[in-house]
Amino acid sequence: MSDTQAIIVVGGGPVGLVLSLLLAQQGVASVLLEARKKGAADQDTRALALSYGTRKILEKLGVWPLLEPQATAIETIHISQKGSIGRSLLHACDYGQDALGYVLSYGALCAALGAQVSRSAHVRFIDEAQVKSITHDTEQATVIYQRHEKSQQMATALAVLADGGRSLETIVGLKRVTKEYGHDALITKVRTELPHNHIAYERFTANGPMALLPNGERDFSLVWTGEQAYIAPLLALSDEAFLSQFHTQFGDRVGRFLSVEKRMTFPLRLSHLQDNEVLHLVVIGNAAQTMHPVAGQGFNVGLRDAEVLASLIAEADTALGGMEMLKAYRAYRQKDTKRGLLFTDFLVNIFSNDLVGVTKLRSLGLGLFDVVKPIKRHLVGKMSFGK
Ligand SMILES: Cc1cc2nc3c(=O)[nH]c(=O)nc-3n(C[C@H](O)[C@H](O)[C@H](O)COP(=O)(O)OP(=O)(O)OC[C@H]3O[C@@H](n4cnc5c(N)ncnc54)[C@H](O)[C@@H]3O)c2cc1C
Repeated sequence: MSDTQAIIVVGGGPVGLVLSLLLAQQGVASVLLEARKKGAADQDTRALALSYGTRKILEKLGVWPLLEPQATAIETIHISQKGSIGRSLLHACDYGQDALGYVLSYGALCAALGAQVSRSAHVRFIDEAQVKSITHDTEQATVIYQRHEKSQQMATALAVLADGGRSLETIVGLKRVTKEYGHDALITKVRTELPHNHIAYERFTANGPMALLPNGERDFSLVWTGEQAYIAPLLALSDEAFLSQFHTQFGDRVGRFLSVEKRMTFPLRLSHLQDNEVLHLVVIGNAAQTMHPVAGQGFNVGLRDAEVLASLIAEADTALGGMEMLKAYRAYRQKDTKRGLLFTDFLVNIFSNDLVGVTKLRSLGLGLFDVVKPIKRHLVGKMSFGK
């Protein structure tokens, strides 16, 4: 494989790995540049919520059979609001699906995708390759990276940035719009008295939304979000005090909370790129858009970026990396991305707001949502396939 003909993918996270594999399936060569050592991500226990549509992409790549035994199916989603009797239930069987989604660790996903990449003759994976800059002219993009203290350079008709949003500042022409929520997400795993029965819980409180996702035989992954001043002290509490405080917010649906694993927090922001093209460059995954984790959309939107880009490249109706191709890509992805951003932002704003009257409206809204079938069907379609 000649590197100059290959597409260069910057970032071997799940979105970059999937893109290279989708391209390989269509006989298109790529070079994958990853800053970390091969296998470094495999131990990451962060729980990802995969949509049903994401499962379909992973099936197409042949990795789903490896992942299925490690994934926990979400068969029901229970949505509620603290201090209100309104609640809503979504059942997979009502929509002809085996599951509404799956919970899988980031590490397990990267390990399976990485193994598939190693077997592919169309992907050249270069680890410990820290990309320092991506520049472009009318002919090509030039990627400069550092490996083992040596600077190296590659040119390509199309560079794809999938670095999770960590080296954008180095690229002339790309502008990021960011909204800081001033909120943190606390993530951990908890064990409960009652089994999860494959139910995921989304609960909205005046301080912010929280989610309990079934993970493994007996555990839940917890994402608890709220203002930084509210979330930060939760890290310092003893396990017992933490679980008691969480129980007060969450209620009795899963019985008592028995144990909690290590807690970590990260800041929440919503960010996306401004609508403009940079010749010979496409940005996908978290590098293109970062969403609040409330609706578990971020990763799934990123995989759909990879899927659309791979088919556009394979069709090759237009010059690779040229303005026409870049505009076509934007046109395909714009609606899905914007809807994902607006939807998660709307949920955060409407459900984390304690103005007089809003609580009652939300309660009424949840009750109505529960009985109006077309709205539920629309939401499930959106969460599952981005449609
Ligand atoms: C704590 C946490 C919990 C989350 N929970 C969920 C969830 O429940 N559901 C969900 O859908 N999403 C969740 N997300 C978001 C999800 O992790 C991202 O959507 C997903 O990881 C995006 O994948 P990616 O491949 O675009 O980026 P990343 O996973 O960030 O991967 C980027 C890769 O690029 C590499 N890289 C970075 N800079 C360079 C460089 N200069 N040169 C070369 N390589 C580079 C990195 O080492 C990394 O391997 C969560 C995110 C966090 C932080």
